[in-house]
Amino acid sequence: MKLLLKIISLILIYTNCFGQSPPSNSFFVIHCDPGYADVMHYKKLQQMIDTASAHNVPLTIELSPPWVNFILADPVKLDSVRSWQKRGHEIAAHHHGVYHCFWDSITNFPIDSIIANQPAGPQCDSGILSGAMKTFWDNLDTIAGDSLMLSWGSTDDYPAVDLYPNIPYRTSGGRDSAVQGFSNIYLATHGPTTVGATTYGPYTTCSIDYYFIEDITTVQEVRDLYNDSTGYSNMYNTVGVVTHVFNFKQALAAAPPNYYYTWINFIKGKGCQTVREILRKSSVCSSVGIEKIKTNADFKIYPNPASTTLYIVPNEGHGNKDYQVEVYNILGQKFISEQSPNSLKIQNLENGVYFVKITSEINETSIQKFVKQ
Ligand SMILES: [Zn+2]
Repeated sequence: MKLLLKIISLILIYTNCFGQSPPSNSFFVIHCDPGYADVMHYKKLQQMIDTASAHNVPLTIELSPPWVNFILADPVKLDSVRSWQKRGHEIAAHHHGVYHCFWDSITNFPIDSIIANQPAGPQCDSGILSGAMKTFWDNLDTIAGDSLMLSWGSTDDYPAVDLYPNIPYRTSGGRDSAVQGFSNIYLATHGPTTVGATTYGPYTTCSIDYYFIEDITTVQEVRDLYNDSTGYSNMYNTVGVVTHVFNFKQALAAAPPNYYYTWINFIKGKGCQTVREILRKSSVCSSVGIEKIKTNADFKIYPNPASTTLYIVPNEGHGNKDYQVEVYNILGQKFISEQSPNSLKIQNLENGVYFVKITSEINETSIQKFVKQ
């Protein structure tokens, strides 16, 4: 068996060196930008999701603060988010920082620093401070339904200031060249950055890059590079693209060559996964991944693996008497929610990997992994 694995890996290395192997992973991020959280763009997003679902292409949906508020205000929309998650799509975060021409009004930067750093000009709608990042994160937590909202895409000159410490995964990239769509997973450390009296970070994220597609030309650029068996395609294991909801112009009935359908049709069946799935599986990320989320609440779970009953034992300590226990699968779907249980009945869960999130009465959280078998 070992020899067989070695031969297979040698073949993989060989084909990789001699230009036979396109990226094994692909992901597609959707940016829900500030300024577009309205009924019309929500309908477009739903159409984008339906199209992707029909072709088994899971999306990573990065929501900016106005979209989060828009969805949370309507239980019907929140139900839709749960159905997107059930179809394998990922809910993630999008943020325009104070250096962005279209700042989304949320930041940890103090007011004088915002004024000093914001781009000015008639083309910019630079926003008015509405709150610190904490509100955004709390609302995202609700929308994700799972505290497994782990991926973050933003435009920040100093990401540590606004980056949430528990977010391990980050998307990055731009519009300079389609080669930006080809990358290998890498670790990036942000900060420490001191602003006012507060020091933020350092935070290490597991990161992956994308290229903006917004029309048929940009789609062709990425497709040509992907199909070039001697070029960039062979040097990187992941191809990633991003588009905005506002770039999606056609109604559902529109036929190709709409850029969105063209890309979905090209990439389907080619290692499509969410950002979370790709990064979680990577050994590069083992120091920062989902399993390494900072925990400060003190609980034990056993046995692991478990088949019928999972026991929860709070250690003696303040804030451990009254606690909330929730169980999620890797897609962020919630299966169990109980108040202060000593044990959980898990015989009805399908076999696989699950996360137990325990929130103590003083709001400290512990996320632990267990295997149902
Ligand atoms: Zn944006």
